[in-house]
Amino acid sequence: MAPDIYSQIQFIISILFSLAAGSCAGSFINATAMRTVADKKWWGGERSSCDKCGKTLQTIDLIPILSFIFLRGRCRYCGESISRRHFAAEVISAVGTAALFARWGLSPALAFSLAVFWFSLFNSLTDIEIGYIYDVWAVALGALGILMRIPAGWPAIFDGALGALIGFGFIAMIILVSRGGMGWGDAMLMLGIGGAVGWRYSALSLYVGFMIGGVIVLPLLAAKKLKRKDAIPLGPFLASGSVAVLFFGNALVRRLSYFLGAAPGWPWG
Ligand SMILES: [Zn+2]
Repeated sequence: MAPDIYSQIQFIISILFSLAAGSCAGSFINATAMRTVADKKWWGGERSSCDKCGKTLQTIDLIPILSFIFLRGRCRYCGESISRRHFAAEVISAVGTAALFARWGLSPALAFSLAVFWFSLFNSLTDIEIGYIYDVWAVALGALGILMRIPAGWPAIFDGALGALIGFGFIAMIILVSRGGMGWGDAMLMLGIGGAVGWRYSALSLYVGFMIGGVIVLPLLAAKKLKRKDAIPLGPFLASGSVAVLFFGNALVRRLSYFLGAAPGWPWG
Protein backbone atom coordinates (compact mmCIF):
# COMPACT_ATOMS: atom_id res chain seq x y z
CA MET A 1 0.00 0.00 0.00
CA ALA A 2 1.10 3.51 -0.72
CA PRO A 3 1.93 5.59 2.34
CA ASP A 4 -0.81 8.13 1.54
CA ILE A 5 -3.41 5.41 2.22
CA TYR A 6 -2.10 5.30 5.78
CA SER A 7 -2.42 9.04 6.18
CA GLN A 8 -5.98 8.90 4.81
CA ILE A 9 -6.89 6.15 7.28
CA GLN A 10 -5.27 8.18 10.03
CA PHE A 11 -7.33 11.22 9.01
CA ILE A 12 -10.59 9.23 8.97
CA ILE A 13 -9.87 7.76 12.39
CA SER A 14 -9.15 11.20 13.84
CA ILE A 15 -12.38 12.59 12.35
CA LEU A 16 -14.37 9.72 13.89
CA PHE A 17 -12.60 10.33 17.19
CA SER A 18 -13.38 14.06 17.10
CA LEU A 19 -17.05 13.32 16.26
CA ALA A 20 -17.24 11.08 19.35
CA ALA A 21 -15.36 13.55 21.57
CA GLY A 22 -17.51 16.42 20.25
CA SER A 23 -20.78 14.62 20.95
CA CYS A 24 -19.65 13.86 24.53
CA ALA A 25 -18.62 17.51 24.98
CA GLY A 26 -22.02 18.62 23.62
CA SER A 27 -23.83 16.32 26.03
CA PHE A 28 -21.81 17.66 28.97
CA ILE A 29 -22.18 21.30 27.88
CA ASN A 30 -25.96 20.95 27.45
CA ALA A 31 -26.38 19.20 30.81
CA THR A 32 -24.24 21.86 32.51
CA ALA A 33 -26.14 24.71 30.83
CA MET A 34 -29.53 23.27 31.80
CA ARG A 35 -28.39 22.72 35.41
CA THR A 36 -27.01 26.26 35.54
CA VAL A 37 -30.31 27.64 34.24
CA ALA A 38 -32.26 25.56 36.78
CA ASP A 39 -29.93 26.80 39.54
CA LYS A 40 -28.92 23.22 40.30
CA LYS A 41 -25.37 22.29 41.13
CA TRP A 42 -23.66 20.29 38.43
CA TRP A 43 -20.30 19.46 39.89
CA GLY A 44 -21.61 16.95 42.44
CA GLY A 45 -22.47 13.30 41.94
CA GLU A 46 -26.08 13.93 40.93
CA ARG A 47 -27.07 11.54 38.12
CA SER A 48 -29.01 12.69 35.06
CA SER A 49 -32.71 11.95 35.13
CA CYS A 50 -35.66 12.06 32.74
CA ASP A 51 -37.15 15.59 32.52
CA LYS A 52 -40.66 14.09 32.52
CA CYS A 53 -40.78 11.11 34.92
CA GLY A 54 -37.68 11.91 36.98
CA LYS A 55 -36.28 8.38 36.74
CA THR A 56 -32.49 8.19 37.06
CA LEU A 57 -31.00 7.37 33.68
CA GLN A 58 -28.59 4.48 33.18
CA THR A 59 -25.36 4.67 31.22
CA ILE A 60 -27.04 3.02 28.20
CA ASP A 61 -29.59 5.89 28.09
CA LEU A 62 -26.87 8.53 28.14
CA ILE A 63 -24.71 7.70 25.11
CA PRO A 64 -24.64 10.97 23.15
CA ILE A 65 -26.60 10.97 19.87
CA LEU A 66 -26.90 7.15 19.69
CA SER A 67 -29.23 6.69 22.69
CA PHE A 68 -31.63 9.30 21.29
CA ILE A 69 -31.72 7.53 17.91
CA PHE A 70 -32.13 4.00 19.31
CA LEU A 71 -34.81 5.13 21.77
CA ARG A 72 -36.51 7.03 18.89
CA GLY A 73 -36.50 10.18 21.00
CA ARG A 74 -38.55 8.66 23.82
CA CYS A 75 -37.77 7.92 27.46
CA ARG A 76 -37.27 4.18 28.03
CA TYR A 77 -39.24 4.32 31.28
CA CYS A 78 -42.23 6.63 30.72
CA GLY A 79 -42.35 6.78 26.90
CA GLU A 80 -42.57 10.59 26.90
CA SER A 81 -40.57 12.39 24.23
CA ILE A 82 -37.08 13.61 25.16
CA SER A 83 -36.34 17.29 24.51
CA ARG A 84 -34.84 17.68 21.03
CA ARG A 85 -32.46 20.25 22.47
CA HIS A 86 -30.26 17.56 24.04
CA PHE A 87 -29.95 15.85 20.68
CA ALA A 88 -29.41 19.11 18.78
CA ALA A 89 -26.64 20.23 21.16
CA GLU A 90 -24.86 16.87 20.79
CA VAL A 91 -25.09 16.87 16.97
CA ILE A 92 -23.96 20.51 16.65
CA SER A 93 -21.02 19.89 18.97
CA ALA A 94 -20.01 16.66 17.19
CA VAL A 95 -20.12 18.20 13.71
CA GLY A 96 -18.47 21.47 14.79
CA THR A 97 -15.67 19.70 16.67
CA ALA A 98 -14.88 17.41 13.72
CA ALA A 99 -15.03 20.31 11.25
CA LEU A 100 -12.68 22.42 13.40
CA PHE A 101 -10.31 19.47 13.63
CA ALA A 102 -10.37 19.13 9.86
CA ARG A 103 -9.78 22.91 9.53
CA TRP A 104 -6.83 23.28 11.90
CA GLY A 105 -5.35 19.84 12.60
CA LEU A 106 -3.54 19.33 15.89
CA SER A 107 -2.35 22.89 16.58
CA PRO A 108 -2.69 25.79 19.02
CA ALA A 109 -5.38 27.20 16.69
CA LEU A 110 -7.45 24.04 17.26
CA ALA A 111 -7.23 24.45 21.06
CA PHE A 112 -8.39 28.08 20.78
CA SER A 113 -11.13 27.12 18.31
CA LEU A 114 -12.54 24.39 20.53
CA ALA A 115 -12.51 26.68 23.57
CA VAL A 116 -14.40 29.38 21.63
CA PHE A 117 -16.82 26.87 20.09
CA TRP A 118 -17.68 25.00 23.29
CA PHE A 119 -18.02 28.12 25.50
CA SER A 120 -20.11 29.80 22.78
CA LEU A 121 -22.39 26.76 22.65
CA PHE A 122 -22.87 26.93 26.42
CA ASN A 123 -23.63 30.66 26.37
CA SER A 124 -26.02 30.26 23.42
CA LEU A 125 -27.93 27.48 25.19
CA THR A 126 -28.54 29.55 28.32
CA ASP A 127 -29.45 32.58 26.17
CA ILE A 128 -31.98 30.55 24.15
CA GLU A 129 -33.39 28.85 27.26
CA ILE A 130 -33.90 31.87 29.55
CA GLY A 131 -32.58 34.87 27.59
CA TYR A 132 -29.60 35.21 29.88
CA ILE A 133 -25.86 34.96 29.32
CA TYR A 134 -23.96 34.23 32.54
CA ASP A 135 -21.17 36.80 32.86
CA VAL A 136 -18.92 34.36 34.68
CA TRP A 137 -19.10 31.83 31.80
CA ALA A 138 -18.53 34.53 29.21
CA VAL A 139 -15.56 36.06 31.02
CA ALA A 140 -14.10 32.59 31.77
CA LEU A 141 -13.46 32.12 28.05
CA GLY A 142 -11.59 35.43 27.84
CA ALA A 143 -9.49 34.56 30.91
CA LEU A 144 -8.72 31.12 29.47
CA GLY A 145 -7.81 32.71 26.14
CA ILE A 146 -5.38 35.16 27.77
CA LEU A 147 -3.79 32.30 29.78
CA MET A 148 -3.36 30.25 26.60
CA ARG A 149 -1.67 33.26 24.99
CA ILE A 150 1.04 33.52 27.65
CA PRO A 151 3.40 30.97 25.98
CA ALA A 152 3.36 33.09 22.79
CA GLY A 153 4.55 36.20 24.63
CA TRP A 154 3.48 39.80 25.03
CA PRO A 155 2.30 40.55 21.48
CA ALA A 156 -0.16 37.62 21.68
CA ILE A 157 -1.37 38.67 25.15
CA PHE A 158 -1.83 42.27 23.99
CA ASP A 159 -3.72 41.00 20.92
CA GLY A 160 -6.14 39.11 23.23
CA ALA A 161 -6.66 42.11 25.49
CA LEU A 162 -7.38 44.31 22.47
CA GLY A 163 -9.81 41.68 21.15
CA ALA A 164 -11.69 41.71 24.46
CA LEU A 165 -11.79 45.51 24.43
CA ILE A 166 -13.13 45.68 20.85
CA GLY A 167 -15.75 42.97 21.50
CA PHE A 168 -16.98 44.58 24.71
CA GLY A 169 -16.63 48.17 23.56
CA PHE A 170 -18.58 47.78 20.32
CA ILE A 171 -21.60 46.15 22.01
CA ALA A 172 -21.41 48.59 24.93
CA MET A 173 -21.55 51.47 22.45
CA ILE A 174 -24.68 50.00 20.85
CA ILE A 175 -26.31 49.53 24.26
CA LEU A 176 -25.59 53.12 25.27
CA VAL A 177 -26.76 54.57 21.94
CA SER A 178 -29.85 52.41 21.40
CA ARG A 179 -30.95 51.82 25.02
CA GLY A 180 -32.41 48.42 24.40
CA GLY A 181 -32.16 45.52 22.03
CA MET A 182 -28.80 44.35 23.23
CA GLY A 183 -27.91 43.48 26.80
CA TRP A 184 -24.73 43.56 28.87
CA GLY A 185 -24.66 39.76 28.58
CA ASP A 186 -23.99 40.21 24.86
CA ALA A 187 -21.16 42.63 25.66
CA MET A 188 -19.62 40.14 28.12
CA LEU A 189 -20.00 37.34 25.55
CA MET A 190 -17.96 39.34 23.02
CA LEU A 191 -15.44 40.33 25.69
CA GLY A 192 -14.78 36.63 26.33
CA ILE A 193 -14.67 35.65 22.67
CA GLY A 194 -12.48 38.65 21.78
CA GLY A 195 -9.99 37.80 24.54
CA ALA A 196 -9.59 34.33 23.08
CA VAL A 197 -9.46 35.16 19.35
CA GLY A 198 -7.53 38.47 19.28
CA TRP A 199 -8.48 41.83 17.75
CA ARG A 200 -8.80 40.91 14.06
CA TYR A 201 -11.01 37.87 14.61
CA SER A 202 -12.95 39.83 17.26
CA ALA A 203 -13.81 42.57 14.76
CA LEU A 204 -14.70 39.97 12.12
CA SER A 205 -16.86 38.06 14.64
CA LEU A 206 -18.90 41.19 15.32
CA TYR A 207 -19.28 41.83 11.59
CA VAL A 208 -20.30 38.27 10.66
CA GLY A 209 -22.47 37.93 13.78
CA PHE A 210 -24.47 41.04 12.90
CA MET A 211 -24.76 39.89 9.29
CA ILE A 212 -26.17 36.52 10.38
CA GLY A 213 -28.51 38.23 12.85
CA GLY A 214 -29.70 40.68 10.20
CA VAL A 215 -30.30 37.96 7.60
CA ILE A 216 -32.47 36.02 10.05
CA VAL A 217 -34.13 38.76 12.12
CA LEU A 218 -34.96 41.39 9.46
CA PRO A 219 -37.19 39.09 7.30
CA LEU A 220 -39.01 37.98 10.48
CA LEU A 221 -39.58 41.63 11.39
CA ALA A 222 -40.72 42.39 7.84
CA ALA A 223 -43.13 39.44 7.90
CA LYS A 224 -44.43 40.71 11.28
CA LYS A 225 -43.62 37.34 12.85
CA LEU A 226 -41.54 39.34 15.32
CA LYS A 227 -42.29 42.68 16.87
CA ARG A 228 -39.55 45.22 17.51
CA LYS A 229 -40.20 44.93 21.24
CA ASP A 230 -39.85 41.13 21.30
CA ALA A 231 -36.85 39.97 23.27
CA ILE A 232 -34.73 38.17 20.71
CA PRO A 233 -31.72 36.33 22.14
CA LEU A 234 -28.82 37.82 20.19
CA GLY A 235 -26.07 35.77 21.82
CA PRO A 236 -26.54 32.80 19.45
CA PHE A 237 -26.07 35.08 16.40
CA LEU A 238 -22.87 36.59 17.80
CA ALA A 239 -21.67 33.12 18.78
CA SER A 240 -22.45 31.74 15.29
CA GLY A 241 -20.57 34.64 13.70
CA SER A 242 -17.55 33.94 15.90
CA VAL A 243 -17.57 30.24 15.04
CA ALA A 244 -17.90 31.03 11.31
CA VAL A 245 -14.82 33.27 11.64
CA LEU A 246 -12.89 30.30 13.08
CA PHE A 247 -13.32 28.69 9.65
CA PHE A 248 -13.16 31.65 7.27
CA GLY A 249 -11.28 34.27 9.31
CA ASN A 250 -7.97 33.93 7.47
CA ALA A 251 -9.66 34.31 4.08
CA LEU A 252 -11.51 37.40 5.35
CA VAL A 253 -8.32 38.92 6.78
CA ARG A 254 -6.66 38.52 3.37
CA ARG A 255 -9.57 40.27 1.64
CA LEU A 256 -9.73 43.04 4.24
CA SER A 257 -5.97 43.40 4.69
CA TYR A 258 -6.31 47.16 4.10
CA PHE A 259 -8.13 47.41 7.46
CA LEU A 260 -6.82 44.40 9.32
CA GLY A 261 -3.14 44.24 8.34
CA ALA A 262 -1.45 41.49 6.42
CA ALA A 263 -1.60 38.52 8.82
CA PRO A 264 -4.36 37.18 11.08
CA GLY A 265 -2.02 36.98 14.10
CA TRP A 266 -1.11 34.11 16.42
CA PRO A 267 -2.47 31.39 16.69
CA TRP A 268 -4.27 31.67 13.37
CA GLY A 269 -1.27 31.79 11.08
ZN1 LIG B 1 -39.21 9.40 31.57
